[in-house]
Amino acid sequence: MPTEFRDALPILETIEAAGYEAYFVGGSVRDTLLNKPIHDVDIATSAYPEEIKKIFKRTVDTGIEHGTVMILDHGTGYETTTFRTESTYTDFRRPDEVTFVRSLSEDLKRRDFTVNVLALTKSGEIIDLFGGVDDLNNKVLRAVGKAEERFHEDALRMMRAVRFAAQLDFKIDEDTRAAISDNAPLLANIAVERINVEFTKLMQGSAASYGMVELIKSGLNNYMPMLVNGERDLAALALLLQVAQPKTDNEAWTLLAFELGFNPKAAGDFLKAWKQPNDMVQVAKAAVTLMNKLRASDVDDWELYQTKKAITTTLAVIELSELHADVDKLSARYQALPIKDKKELAINGGELVKELHLAPGPLFGKILSHLEYQVVMGQVPNEKEMLLKAAIEYAQKEKN
Ligand code: ATP
Ligand code: MG
Repeated sequence: MPTEFRDALPILETIEAAGYEAYFVGGSVRDTLLNKPIHDVDIATSAYPEEIKKIFKRTVDTGIEHGTVMILDHGTGYETTTFRTESTYTDFRRPDEVTFVRSLSEDLKRRDFTVNVLALTKSGEIIDLFGGVDDLNNKVLRAVGKAEERFHEDALRMMRAVRFAAQLDFKIDEDTRAAISDNAPLLANIAVERINVEFTKLMQGSAASYGMVELIKSGLNNYMPMLVNGERDLAALALLLQVAQPKTDNEAWTLLAFELGFNPKAAGDFLKAWKQPNDMVQVAKAAVTLMNKLRASDVDDWELYQTKKAITTTLAVIELSELHADVDKLSARYQALPIKDKKELAINGGELVKELHLAPGPLFGKILSHLEYQVVMGQVPNEKEMLLKAAIEYAQKEKN
């Protein structure tokens, strides 16, 4: 048993001592059997939220209406969720009603894939009611029960299927696959933020290429922002993902925007449609700007300089892309730039005003920008005297 479970054993023991059942469930059990590191330990219990709160002194109501209470124990929080069933999904996403129940099997039944419904007892015994261990050994991702029904209940599960296939390198079972193709349009009912979470994980999975191909084949992309009929570009991306995966969300989404052939503004609009953070939008726009130029020809130092804080992501995405640019050389060129920011100029606006005896105004902005360009391009060294001389020459020219 991994230490994460061992540390949490006292919680199971305490719940059981109070007369209820408690198990480890979900991704952590699956990942342990796959010998993968686990992140969060989830607990399922027959105790109702109010009962859990009576047993443990320190708890937080993280999702009490769904039966989830976080138990705080020695600085770690354990999400503990009461066994529940879900009923009548009228909008293809959320159950209209959750009902707390006392039976583990009822709870496991409402979950998504067989490999996600394994439970682990405090003594290390696996409870496998749906053939999850076999599927795990055969590397198969299979919906619990009738796939069709499960995707009708919650259409996000179709995205989760392609995401888990990509992360775990599991093949999607035939019936499950067919049900995704048949029900892909239901994805239109799901909030873009939730689709985003799954798509982001997919692109970073070790079998991202396979997950992407499954996504395209089932037509899920036609229910995703600005990816309607995007299968050709996504297939090109899938080819790239065969070789290497993006390591960060920024890399994944920038690569995607580039492969879709967007200009920088369209790349920004695309990411905004997906509700990405502004920071990612800025990074992707800068990266796409440079990459589109690299596609046509080489870039000069001024263009390279413009990438600023996007440089790391840009270089990583160039490496992932089909561009044949020499990334090490670009990186060395960037590192060798005389300045990385306007603020690093060896002269500032105040000094210019004084030395040139000019009233502050638009001319100063122009002079500073000109100096910035000349320094970056290696035309003037970044030294105060030289900059002053260049500024005077430029101001003279501007006046005439
Ligand atoms: P990860 O490693 O990404 O956290 P996970 O399997 O733990 O994977 P979570 O999203 O954390 O996935 O969900 C925990 C468990 O809750 C899942 O293993 C699954 O049993 C169940 N679950 C989560 N989302 C759904 C859903 N939309 N429909 C059905 N069951 C779900
Ligand atoms: Mg989880």
